[in-house]
Amino acid sequence: VIASEPVKNLYVNLPFCPSLCGFCNFYKNDMRTYDKYFSGVDLARHLLQEIQLYRPLISNKLASVYFGGGSPLEIPGDFLKKLLTALHQEFDLSEAEITVESNPFWAKDKKIYDVELFNRISIGVQSFDPGSLKVLHRSLSPDADFLNRIGSFIPHVSVDMVYDIPGTTADSFLNDVRCAVKLDAEHLSWYSLEITSSVFEKKLPRYEDDSAFKREWSTLLTMLGDSGYERYEISNFAKKGQTSKHNMAYWEHRPYLGIGPGAFGALFLENEPTSATFPQNQASAIRYRNKRHLGLYLKDLNESKKPWESSESLSVVDLENEFVFLSLRRSVGLDLTEYQNRFGKSFLMEHQMILDRHEEAFKQENGSLKLTESGLLYYNSLCSDLMI
Ligand code: SF4
Repeated sequence: VIASEPVKNLYVNLPFCPSLCGFCNFYKNDMRTYDKYFSGVDLARHLLQEIQLYRPLISNKLASVYFGGGSPLEIPGDFLKKLLTALHQEFDLSEAEITVESNPFWAKDKKIYDVELFNRISIGVQSFDPGSLKVLHRSLSPDADFLNRIGSFIPHVSVDMVYDIPGTTADSFLNDVRCAVKLDAEHLSWYSLEITSSVFEKKLPRYEDDSAFKREWSTLLTMLGDSGYERYEISNFAKKGQTSKHNMAYWEHRPYLGIGPGAFGALFLENEPTSATFPQNQASAIRYRNKRHLGLYLKDLNESKKPWESSESLSVVDLENEFVFLSLRRSVGLDLTEYQNRFGKSFLMEHQMILDRHEEAFKQENGSLKLTESGLLYYNSLCSDLMI
């Protein structure tokens, strides 16, 4: 069902932010909490030590490294430089996409941009509209100078936006799209507030009815398409050849190592233990989450233990469902031959009744099953129908 393969994608969760945004669902800490646990602690050394707990499972050559979770560039001292330098020494990163998440303004220490240790920046803008940012309880407003000039420091730039902020008018939404397109970033993500935040869910609906949403979403798709962006995933758009290698690993259902407080990871293992640090009866696929308490996280690492808060072995049914819902997010769709090879059965035969019921939502092209544009609008409910 699942081939064990060495991990080539590394996610480093750094959940520390200069100010906490009210809308944000992620596990996060303000800088005071960071200081409480980490002042005088060599965080880079701890993260490198955490990697060593999994070292036999990791390829020597990585495809991507992603520093996210908060504001990695705001972590004081030369933390990021030290960690990146050590990663470059430990792994072959010559072809790796190395992304750092960023606020939409300059970091305190601009020297960090001169260091040629990372090659991609993912900027959380969310909206250009002050009213919308206020609704999100987000004090981190975009700085035009930063957004216009960061591309001359870092070769690859991605911008994150949110589209269904309560109280947004059709005009301010249109203005957000225009401003984002004008930046000419090579990659744009446009997520629904509903999935990035439970705070606003259902309380203050942005759209009175489906048709208002469809109208705005269709404008967004047209404007991005006209500006050279291809929609390669349900919420992600890229100029030619500029898809995110790291995120593709998630959507292609590949293993990834997550380190840092609160990080998620997914490992696909041989049934035989590949490392003495794993239990003998290890299942072939495991998903875990690291502890969301900085003190407990550090304690585990100090005892050379994996700082897992929870973990679950994935069953064949879990893997099948994940493969289906991740594949249908992508514009290339679900590869029917790959499904047959992985699960030993025909996806079409297995799901014919549901496919017939939602005929207009699916199309078959080049041996793959894809969602049509109207199908993508109902992605969640279609996926739950397809789950086994
Ligand atoms: S949106 Fe970003 S900066 Fe704001 S609290 Fe969440 S992780 Fe931190």
